[in-house]
Amino acid sequence: MNFSFDTTKILIGGEWRDCDSGETIDVINPSNGEFLCKVARGSQKDIDDAVKAAQDAYDGDWGRMTAVERGRILTNIGNKLKEYEDELTELESHDVGKPVKQARADAIALCRYFEFYGGSADKVMGHTIPYQDGYTVFTLREPHGVTGHIIPWNYPMQITGRCVGGALAMGNTCVLKPSEEACLTALKFARIAEEAGLPKGVLNVVPGYGAEAGAALSGHPGIHHISFTGSVGVGKLVQKAAGDNIVPVTLELGGKSPQIVFDDADLDAALPFLVGAGIQNAGQTCSAGTRIIAQRGIYEKLIGMMTEKYNTLQVGPATDDLDVGPLISAKQKNTVDGYIQAGIDAGLEIAAQGNIVDNCPEKGCYVRPTLFRDVSNDHKLAQEEIFGPVQVIIPFDTEEEAIKIANGTEYGLVSGVWTRDGGRQMRMAKAVKAGQLFINNYGAGGGVELPFGGIGKSGFGREKGFEALYGFSVLKTVAVNHG
Ligand code: NAD
Repeated sequence: MNFSFDTTKILIGGEWRDCDSGETIDVINPSNGEFLCKVARGSQKDIDDAVKAAQDAYDGDWGRMTAVERGRILTNIGNKLKEYEDELTELESHDVGKPVKQARADAIALCRYFEFYGGSADKVMGHTIPYQDGYTVFTLREPHGVTGHIIPWNYPMQITGRCVGGALAMGNTCVLKPSEEACLTALKFARIAEEAGLPKGVLNVVPGYGAEAGAALSGHPGIHHISFTGSVGVGKLVQKAAGDNIVPVTLELGGKSPQIVFDDADLDAALPFLVGAGIQNAGQTCSAGTRIIAQRGIYEKLIGMMTEKYNTLQVGPATDDLDVGPLISAKQKNTVDGYIQAGIDAGLEIAAQGNIVDNCPEKGCYVRPTLFRDVSNDHKLAQEEIFGPVQVIIPFDTEEEAIKIANGTEYGLVSGVWTRDGGRQMRMAKAVKAGQLFINNYGAGGGVELPFGGIGKSGFGREKGFEALYGFSVLKTVAVNHG
């Protein structure tokens, strides 16, 4: 594809420049395994410069700007992003292998984050607190200062929007380290934000490898808050590094989310969500609803319905805009193929598989969506985050049993419950351990307005929605003795 910008440049202090080493990383298109472009291999020196530029911007006009003015700039960014929706969609589709409709949904979500946070910037308020006679006490919500953002490859636009949007709304400045696997839309986004009037140095973007640029950012003493989205293993490293500097962290990690289907559920309404939440983005979604926990009375019927749906699923190049695109890389494909093989080797029964269309490029990273039935919740297919289009169905008899199975992993990100019984809806809302719970719907990644985050190994802290603004700010209590 043709690029409208130089993909090898990094953004520091409003200047697009080469990274310090001058080295680059090759970007591969996962739909065909072919070379797409080069991006910079940022390192410690680039991160040092980016943090300094972000601090300078914070100490300058941006730090003194009113919330109303900041909100207007974010709203401008949202408006400008609309003009670039097609280009962002094309970039993401080539870079990540997303079917066009998914890439477009992500571009729209990026825009929505800036609309939402543009409108929120001047609505975060403190409190007055009744105290001793002669005192007035109030609280102020203030920015952290320089914030670091380390993001993964699966939803680069959505995650850039949610973390950078929230941080800027509260008056922070940002250093963004996108994934080495997929950083093109983050680079393009920064150019669009610049065009929309974001002052120099407020957003700095340094692509590079995790162990280099990522580690340099998470351990940097000049950072005042880190927002990390990625795997549990790297999340631990980021938390340790931030701990050394006593810096607050938001960790948005993995998941193994259940969708619980009771006998009284509207199965026709549930079906598109049950399958869709497992195969969206080729299953490379932290909140993918991969464990279908189904009550015995509808168990066989539901398997039949899901099988029928799976049989229609088509997998192919992102630009063909089918149900499922390729995985991000050959490495990820090998991992997911390994899980499917492990299921087969363990004697698990495959209920259904989708189909890879004819004439797919040989080097594309394609995997057939696969549904395993009668899986025990302690099997690794039901316990580990596969990050590919693989779902398991687990039977249950009682509500108690369903809760036990749903809560029976290390994770707690998102859950879905399908039932028409109002009392049960409320009981499940309280009993299921997750950061988000959907009843009679399922929103893998959806809704910029909805606070999102995990418990357990899914992480802590909340991004998205208004709630995120508390995490991207610090509370100061002011006690005035006026006699
Ligand atoms: P990853 O942890 O491998 O990488 C995430 C980011 O961390 C990348 O930018 C990477 O370069 C960087 N990184 C790697 N090593 C680092 C280090 N030592 N120090 C600092 N940074 C480092 O994750 P991934 O493979 O890119 O993404 C998939 C994972 O992300 C899955 O586990 C998925 O569930 C999770 N995820 C979570 C959410 C959420 O909101 N909870 C959203 C999307 C993805």
